Amino acid sequence: MKHPEEFDTTEELRDFVVHTIRSTGLCKSLKNEHPEVYDFFLSLFQRHPEKERKEVALTTDISIRRFPKAKPQAVQPIQDHQFFLHRSNGTEDSISWVSCVKGAINPVGKRLNWAMRQSIEGQIREFRAAHPNTPCEFCHTYENRTVDHIKKFRDLKDEFLNAHPNHPTEFGKNELAQEIFRPEDAAFETAWQEYHRTHASLRILCKPCNMKLDNYGAFHI
Ligand SMILES: [Zn+2]
Repeated sequence: MKHPEEFDTTEELRDFVVHTIRSTGLCKSLKNEHPEVYDFFLSLFQRHPEKERKEVALTTDISIRRFPKAKPQAVQPIQDHQFFLHRSNGTEDSISWVSCVKGAINPVGKRLNWAMRQSIEGQIREFRAAHPNTPCEFCHTYENRTVDHIKKFRDLKDEFLNAHPNHPTEFGKNELAQEIFRPEDAAFETAWQEYHRTHASLRILCKPCNMKLDNYGAFHI
């Protein structure tokens, strides 16, 4: 199956999405029933203009349901299909595939922020792997553990950018269509990864405790 980034125009992408919805129909679990379609929509949702607020990164499954107000029909019109994200923290939320097809025209600062987060995700995973039995530092639960930056990610990023104002303004995409640094920006990326490794201090917090902090936006595990 084609990747959302491989289409030349948004019209072609939209037609492909419509065709895919038609051939898939309503579905409780794309991941189990149509794994290829699941991979496609997971990539597509990376284009949502508010993918951070939507917590697309937490997606563990996607379902397609009939709009609550839509009448059941033999052939359900495309607009009566509603997509839901199922997240690793147990929540679910609808998401507009139309917004994703249109795609986000994101300012450089936002894309840079994503690339910088993506680039230190390995360190977050390492931290998580090194603390398999650590409960939330505040309330001691083992549920919904997240990795929190004690010093805010935003502050670390701003300090680094103050010292390295010549930052990349163009980015590549990984297989999930997430922003990453291009090979030609490897020196910048390595410097940032080293800065983060040296200056970030991380801890395990459960999601509710993390959300009470004003720096919510940690990496979820
Ligand atoms: Zn907690």
